[in-house]
Amino acid sequence: MANDSMLKFVGRDQAYPAKRAAETRAEDFREIAERYAPPAAEDQAGRCSQCGVPYCSVHCPLHNHIPDWLRLTAEGRLREAYELSNATSTMPEICGRICPQDRLCEGNCVIEFSGHGAVTIGSVEKFITDTAWEEGWVEPLVPGPPRGQSVAVIGAGPAGLTAAEYLRVSGYEVHVYDRHDRAGGLLTYGIPGFKLEKPVVMRRVERLKAGGIVFHEGFAVGQDATLEELRRRHDAVLIATGVYKARNVDVDGSGANGVIAALDYLTASNRKSFGDTVEAFENGSMNAEGKNVVVIGGGDTAMDCVRTAIRQGAKSVKCLYRRDRANMPGSQREVANAEEEGAEFVWLSAPLGFEGGETVTGVRAAKMRLGAPDASGRRAPEAEPGADHLLEADMVIKALGFDAEDLPSLFGTAELGVSRWGTVLVDGRTLMTSLDGVFAAGDIVRGASLVVWAIRDGRDVAKAMHQWLKARAKTGVRERQA
Ligand code: FAD
Ligand code: SF4
Ligand code: SF4
Repeated sequence: MANDSMLKFVGRDQAYPAKRAAETRAEDFREIAERYAPPAAEDQAGRCSQCGVPYCSVHCPLHNHIPDWLRLTAEGRLREAYELSNATSTMPEICGRICPQDRLCEGNCVIEFSGHGAVTIGSVEKFITDTAWEEGWVEPLVPGPPRGQSVAVIGAGPAGLTAAEYLRVSGYEVHVYDRHDRAGGLLTYGIPGFKLEKPVVMRRVERLKAGGIVFHEGFAVGQDATLEELRRRHDAVLIATGVYKARNVDVDGSGANGVIAALDYLTASNRKSFGDTVEAFENGSMNAEGKNVVVIGGGDTAMDCVRTAIRQGAKSVKCLYRRDRANMPGSQREVANAEEEGAEFVWLSAPLGFEGGETVTGVRAAKMRLGAPDASGRRAPEAEPGADHLLEADMVIKALGFDAEDLPSLFGTAELGVSRWGTVLVDGRTLMTSLDGVFAAGDIVRGASLVVWAIRDGRDVAKAMHQWLKARAKTGVRERQA
């Protein structure tokens, strides 16, 4: 009986997998939490009250069948739980690790509102699929019957990989082009190993390669081929290039040695974790060891920089943010992790300039206070006159977010329609851009967002492309040349 194992939230406390001690985990780049030891996942899944209207699923961008796989887990039917979880997601174990669950599924769990603490959905999701990988339940990717049409996917991040997987299953020849030497997008070179260990990403990529998806790594569209060339080579093209233009801090000294961009820093660190030789790390410019580090920003990228610097052995790590804790965009869970590991947050502070001339020695900062709400609804920070202060720094990491690159120029296609922020415009129904047969998905459409939304977009665009390609095949229209 299902209910024998469910509805246990009153007598059974919420329990996340234990985190490793802060001083131990700050010495390596391994994930900070161990997996549930059996039967903890089953016990925690059994706390679910099997809601008739599951708000957890409503607020999951993938609308995962959460109550159903929780029930199967609680009953010890892990393989079925995995199959159900896999039915709506291409990377459940990755979402289980890095979704901001407190804002999505868990933040909307009714048990949370009744004061019992949400069901630990993300940790159970991770447990189910990690177990599936270990037990050999993750099936190889089986391509559908060949359709004689081919698709180019530009960008091997979660949006591109998800679309590539579904299109291959539908029988298309799929070519993925990425300017990096490894696939995965920000899963590989942005997000640090202490949130997402790299073998977890690489085994997904290997599965796609084994399923016949062709990867062209180290291939930059706009440099190694124009968009038009790809359009001629393939029947349809997907742009899933993410957003990479770093926002700058426009103050005196921002060009000084030691003032670096967040993604360059995180990429260098992730490359080291792969065992690569990284010149910028070896010469010290991207290595925080022994340095006083100031990170500027209050989002998840800033948190990742702070925690990476701690692991590299920085002398001190401070995070400067112009609003207060309650008004920061980053996850509160990540702030707590960073504080446990030794980071100091300097709230209500904004940089006025970088001291030191050629090489940075400090950050001059203004003290801020919160004024009336701005257009985003958050209270706008304003400087308090005469309250400037100086922070010692020999490495400053700028983590103020990302905008879209100028794709029409980069791709040599002025007709590609973009918004005033540079994101690619798509038709809301067909998900096609202004160019016939060219689709777009992920951050390059939404602006900087989340992995789970990129997966959702990849799933939706694959469906839309399949419809379009089928119609195209029926009418016999075939414009590509080679
Ligand atoms: P991306 O993952 O950016 O992939 C785009 C790919 O396109 C890249 O591989 C790039 O090399 C390639 N590309 C770009 N231009 C070209 C070109 N011209 N030719 C060929 N290839 C090209 N989200 C979460 O949900 N949880 C987190 O904890 C989290 N942490 C983050 C930490 C950091 C530091 C950052 C920067 C982001 C984080 N995010 C997180 C956001 C998340 O990573 C993104 O929303 C997601 O990766 C977007 O997926 P995507 O496929 O659209 O693009
Ligand atoms: Fe929650 Fe993310 Fe998993 Fe959805 S995909 S159930 S939001 S952890
Ligand atoms: Fe279970 Fe919470 Fe979802 Fe309700 S909202 S079905 S209790 S996980």
